[in-house]
Amino acid sequence: MEKLEACPFFIGGEWVRPVAGGTPVFNPSTGEIIAECPVGTPAEVEAAVQAAHAAFPAWRETPAVERARLLARFRMLLEEHFEEIVRGNTREHGKTLAESRGDVKRGLEMIEFALGVPSLLMGEILPDIARGIDCDAIRHPLGVCVGITPFNFPAMVPLWMYPVAIACGNTFVLKPSEKVPLTAIKIARLLEQAGLPPGVLNLVHGGRAVVDALLTHPLVRAISFVGSTPVARHVYETGTRHGKRVQANGGAKNHVVIMPDADIENSTRGVIEAAFGCAGERCMAGSAAVVVGGAEKTFLPALIESARNLRVGPTDRTAQPDMGAVITGQHRDRVLALIDAGVSEGAKIPADGRRVRVSEAPGGFYVGPTVLDHVNPGMKVAHEEIFGPVLNVLRLDDLEAAINVVNRSAYGNGASIFTGSGKAAREFKHRVNCGMIGINIGVPASMAWFPFNGWSESFFGDLHMQGREGVQFFTRQKVTTSRWFDPGEGDIWHREPARKNGSNP
Ligand code: NAD
Repeated sequence: MEKLEACPFFIGGEWVRPVAGGTPVFNPSTGEIIAECPVGTPAEVEAAVQAAHAAFPAWRETPAVERARLLARFRMLLEEHFEEIVRGNTREHGKTLAESRGDVKRGLEMIEFALGVPSLLMGEILPDIARGIDCDAIRHPLGVCVGITPFNFPAMVPLWMYPVAIACGNTFVLKPSEKVPLTAIKIARLLEQAGLPPGVLNLVHGGRAVVDALLTHPLVRAISFVGSTPVARHVYETGTRHGKRVQANGGAKNHVVIMPDADIENSTRGVIEAAFGCAGERCMAGSAAVVVGGAEKTFLPALIESARNLRVGPTDRTAQPDMGAVITGQHRDRVLALIDAGVSEGAKIPADGRRVRVSEAPGGFYVGPTVLDHVNPGMKVAHEEIFGPVLNVLRLDDLEAAINVVNRSAYGNGASIFTGSGKAAREFKHRVNCGMIGINIGVPASMAWFPFNGWSESFFGDLHMQGREGVQFFTRQKVTTSRWFDPGEGDIWHREPARKNGSNP
């Protein structure tokens, strides 16, 4: 039995120990409980929002350059504690150490982006918008902002939100996933160590009741959410109904198209990584390979062999497998049931991860890499997000059919094409209804400087996270129109303009 890690709230600069236990946090590699995530009460939500509200006036008056310097110290501390955060992340999530390094690195990049806030907040001015009248537009912070995050990127997703929000002068309440609260706590401790004033970042724990209390709180101005589509829709509808600005990223079903002229080695590696990286628990996972016009003869044997050869096992020790466990036993059972559903609807299963045995960690939540071949677009597995190590293979005649399949999906996060043809790539990029496109790239997740750009059921709102859209989301503009009179001069509107050669200049 492992010693339970503490899972405190962070309210007004104080780490508050919960009175009673809560929901289990597992080490998915072993199935052991490593912590209990407390379920926040209305009193804790109220205290966190009030602390953020109280901290706002002084924080918004702190010069943007000073806020950026604080984030630079935070960045340095995160670099210093990188491996410790990575190991904790792997322990509560189950992904490999290499994948955890990627998770933390993507988060670090968000801080790097936020360091540029003094430049990004610069306003606009047009002198003489009318004679003697100037106009300027200046960005202001909103006030108390809230972040609600999913389990699959314990480091990166919270860092998509609060570094930019607080760099812009807002204060923040974070509600991390109750399945992986520990990494968020460790990273928040580093921000505190960097000198963040009390109340600028607060942390509460819990599930639906805590989320709903945040969505409806009168002092909350904006909500960033990342999670599944049904919850994203609920957050968007409830938040906007209560007058908040909301950005809500939802689920996905991403297709990777393999054309007959694709480089086999690179496309196999790209699809394997896209489908089975992080055990498929990625909103940018390539969960459907669309094999076009004969590509299956060369591509599929290589793909199936690579999938069968992936080593599955515990990630919380020195020897690292290729793929770790999924997040909980309950989630494993859901993934297994979806694989069964695919088989009973007629899919073939050339790589079957249902009976994977991991003798060194028999209690872990494992599903082996699974390939479902001959999937057709009408099957349940073709349109439902599985969020596990399961790759559908659809065999189609041409690019036109492939684009149609991609565009029939309700989701619109990402789509990729592997091809040697610029013409096919251009056609695909132009016509596919997704916000992030990969060309010979399996996971086209945009980096911190560009918007994380879901479309359709993968995103609810107007301004995405990351990049300039993130700064726009966390600020509002004030436009000032001004004119000044010389004492005793009178109204300049009615002065005669100077005339040259008898005509207006
Ligand atoms: P989830 O929707 O179950 O939970 C997300 C957050 O919402 C958690 O903090 C949870 O406590 C809270 N929550 C859960 N049910 C709720 C409810 N009924 N009312 C209010 N709040 C609720 O998602 P998850 O299982 O943690 O994460 C996986 C999902 O997140 C997948 O669908 C994945 O595609 C998606 N995701 C999307 C992106 C993206 O950028 N589009 C990124 C990462 C993950």
